[in-house]
Amino acid sequence: MKSLNDPVTQLTGVGVKTAEHLASLNIKTVGDLLTYYPARYDDFAPTDLRTAKDKQKVTVSGTVMSEPLLSRFGYRRNRLSFRLLVGHDVVLVNFFNQPYLKDRLILNQDVTVFGKWEANRQQVLGSKLITKTVAGSQEEMGAIYPVNKHVRQSTIRKLVKQAYHKYQDVIATLLPLALRQRYQLMERRQMIKEMHFPKDPAQLKTARRTAVYEEFFLFQLRLQAIKLTNEQTPGNAILYHNDELKSFIQTIPFELTGAQKRVVNEICRDLRRPYQMNRLLQGDVGSGKTIVAALAIYATINAGYQAALMAPTEILAMQHANKLAKIFAGTPVKSGLLTGSLKPKEHQRLAAAIKKGEINLVIGTHALIQDSIDYANLGLAIIDEQHRFGVKQRQALREKGNHPDVLAMTATPIPRTLAITSYGEMDISIIDEMPAGRKPVETRWLRENQSPAALDFVDQQLENGAQVYVVSPLIEQSETLDVQNATELYERFAKYFGSKYQVGLLHGRMDNEEKEQVMSDFKEGQIQVLVATTVIEVGVDNPNATVMMIYNADQFGLAQLHQLRGRVGRGDRQSYCLLIADPKTDDGVERMNTMVSTNDGFKVAQRDLELRGSGNVLGKKQSGIPDFKVGDTVGDLKILQIARNDAEDLLKTPRWEEVDENQPLVLYLTRRKLKTHFD
Ligand code: ADP
Ligand code: MG
Repeated sequence: MKSLNDPVTQLTGVGVKTAEHLASLNIKTVGDLLTYYPARYDDFAPTDLRTAKDKQKVTVSGTVMSEPLLSRFGYRRNRLSFRLLVGHDVVLVNFFNQPYLKDRLILNQDVTVFGKWEANRQQVLGSKLITKTVAGSQEEMGAIYPVNKHVRQSTIRKLVKQAYHKYQDVIATLLPLALRQRYQLMERRQMIKEMHFPKDPAQLKTARRTAVYEEFFLFQLRLQAIKLTNEQTPGNAILYHNDELKSFIQTIPFELTGAQKRVVNEICRDLRRPYQMNRLLQGDVGSGKTIVAALAIYATINAGYQAALMAPTEILAMQHANKLAKIFAGTPVKSGLLTGSLKPKEHQRLAAAIKKGEINLVIGTHALIQDSIDYANLGLAIIDEQHRFGVKQRQALREKGNHPDVLAMTATPIPRTLAITSYGEMDISIIDEMPAGRKPVETRWLRENQSPAALDFVDQQLENGAQVYVVSPLIEQSETLDVQNATELYERFAKYFGSKYQVGLLHGRMDNEEKEQVMSDFKEGQIQVLVATTVIEVGVDNPNATVMMIYNADQFGLAQLHQLRGRVGRGDRQSYCLLIADPKTDDGVERMNTMVSTNDGFKVAQRDLELRGSGNVLGKKQSGIPDFKVGDTVGDLKILQIARNDAEDLLKTPRWEEVDENQPLVLYLTRRKLKTHFD
């Protein structure tokens, strides 16, 4: 039985080597190959030769005006020439070394030529010829596939053709008829054919619309199926005492914002239900997620369960531990800090206390999910700055203990597009309000030769009692170089400011005690200027810091810059963000301008999405955002939203699985169900 799941080696001419090469393009099965769609097509839209530039690629359509003339020179070299009437102009067309085209060129017939315009000679150097056949049906438009150094364009073309011919009869339509009719979509077989071998632009458009819809719909169907399953996964009903939670809230030194109150309610409602919570808490940097987490932790522990809080860096874990210890002073919350750098003895002791339940709040880095940690009764697992964790790590925390409720927190504002793709299977709570009294951070972009002015500014600010972060240039994939950079910058600043102020250094290679010392010195005002690598990017909270100075700012992505900027403006004093950069690309310039023009995390994220494409915004590997083959989460947002609603509706339709027509879809889902959308 032929099936689209057959390995590509089923195709003639595909051996182990070719299969390996195809795998580098993620093509493993015949189905993968058939849905490996062209990136673009040589199109038929004719070029206006009057405005065409010399050497420009052109498409010209016209009538053959002269008998094609074949001249040979030397061994295997030849030229085919003819005149073409294009509008009212006659141009010369030359094809080199394609003598066989002669038979297809017939006087007075219409043809289309792809090639290069040679303005001086008013001639086209042809590369490809399209003729109309007698029946009037055109040849296909040229599909151009994305390839890499292992696989050739012509190889893909040939294999797709072969695959289509051999397997076309087993291409089942997955989309239900009602949906296909509603949106006037094609049958799957026709769609695949038109995508690879389009005959005219209109058909291609419909094919693409079908492919995008199908891709989004199937994806959303899987996501919604996971969500349904999740919602029905039994979990702990965390029955805390509401009045005790309320009186704990009274001890907080500030009034919760309306948004904080709302999300606390959403979370607490989930905690009480006997199902596993799977919720994403989203709020811009500084919106106050920590206290929300603290309340959820309090409720959990109040009900007799343990809670765990996982942070992406040791610095952040330590900071949480300190902060929460203060918040929970005098309550039954007994917390422990578990990081990778604990000595084996301490680690053992802590692990034992966690297992016995003597410690009911465990804070840590991914050491939390190590196998050696067993919980007595984990009721709630919180993941802070969750985009920093791989999906596997998130999953592992979920599987710890007995289906703990999971709350993932992120400061990365997620545009709607991403919210319904990467997090489509989670419930989402949003803190969309900042604590009262915050002043927007003023952001300035300075060229490197203006950095003396920046230093003057910093000097002034320091004189007024400000504290300053200085972030050193980022060097991708080299922590050693990062550290070197930060150290050099630190020395420069120490020289410049050292006589009047304390300058500190913070980087990832320092050990815990050193880090903690520096952090607390900075927080307590013993250090005024803190030079650091991006280890301070996430979460670090010092409301007295009012200047963030970032060197080579154009090396950072927008999301990261926004995070860094979020380290200041956390108190009621006016704060500043200084970007020092000489961007070398338009993108870099655009990023600097975006930062200067808005403080709104959602706007920054949206711009980031547009500049980089969805897959890169949160880091492809970590975000779980699939790499859509045709669909573009920005350009095709409407289709994505429609597909999501349709998928939801279908899953809610009683007995939809029993409808004959839906069998291919059911089969498709069952096969994928074991795998999540993450792999
Ligand atoms: P993030 O959402 O970035 O994790 P934090 O939880 O660190 O933000 O909160 C940022 C700062 O705002 C902290 O110093 C915190 O104590 C303070 N904060 C949080 N909520 C409020 C509030 N409702 N009113 C005033 N200050 C608040
Ligand atoms: Mg935080």
